[in-house]
Amino acid sequence: MRTVTTVHDLRAAVLRARGEGRTIGLVPTMGALHAGHCSLIAAAREGTDLVVVSLFVNPAQFAPTEDLAAYPRDLAGDAAQAAAVGADLLFAPSVEEVYPPGFATTVSVTGALTETLEGAGRGRGHFDGVATVVAKLLGMAAPDRAYFGQKDAQQAAVIRRLVRDLDLGVVIEVLPTVREADGLAMSSRNAYLDGPDRTRAVALIEALRAAEAGVASGESATATVRAAATAALRARAVEPEYLAFVDPESFSPVDRIDRPTLALVAARVGPARLIDNLLLTPNGARTP
Ligand code: AMP
Repeated sequence: MRTVTTVHDLRAAVLRARGEGRTIGLVPTMGALHAGHCSLIAAAREGTDLVVVSLFVNPAQFAPTEDLAAYPRDLAGDAAQAAAVGADLLFAPSVEEVYPPGFATTVSVTGALTETLEGAGRGRGHFDGVATVVAKLLGMAAPDRAYFGQKDAQQAAVIRRLVRDLDLGVVIEVLPTVREADGLAMSSRNAYLDGPDRTRAVALIEALRAAEAGVASGESATATVRAAATAALRARAVEPEYLAFVDPESFSPVDRIDRPTLALVAARVGPARLIDNLLLTPNGARTP
């Protein structure tokens, strides 16, 4: 595996591969790689010929109050992990390489999809930052396929929308959330959790599974399912920033769970802001 830091070198490698008739897979990450990222890299290895992993902590998607400076960074460790699961090229640009002086363009997906949940909690600029950097990465690497995690369900929906609306001609693959043995969704931000907070963090998946159990038992009133999930959070003294039940495509809230519905939760646990989600499928409903 080779590490490149400039768009010029990335393009040269991608063009060479294309000239040889090889397909390109892109896995965008912010680094501090874990098994969730590795599952995306492995899927890219499976699905394409040249696997590019980008590693860029994108300042544009962090609000001024957020953890940009503290965000875990480990280039050497990331390079070793990416190589071990089959990446061919690690693209690790500087902030100046991605946003050179005079940079003046923002890509903005508008509407409910970006204004609610993460968009409301982290601010308008969050998804603008995501959409802009993903549009740039897709432009830089020109992949056939790009790989994202269901862990960031709203982000995946925003990216699908972006690619559709701008005719970017890349296939977006969204892969299942990889979890720790106790169910906690893997996240680079789990590094912020120490002993007691690490134990409490399991509250998010417990809440989602309580909702899932309610739906599996035939409950379809969102209010009742929400009450079960809220009780699971409270049992671990975790207060949700949001707990939402939405249509998986439009992200509009549903008041009856009588078709596949995405349950999403965000909560602060100690110093970490954590998110998770689960698709609830009522008995007899077909998955979307
Ligand atoms: P990040 O480095 O957190 O920006 O994540 C990079 C990509 O990895 C995104 O598409 C995430 O959705 C995905 N990802 C993060 N955590 C997980 C996980 N636990 N399982 C699967 N994919 C994940």
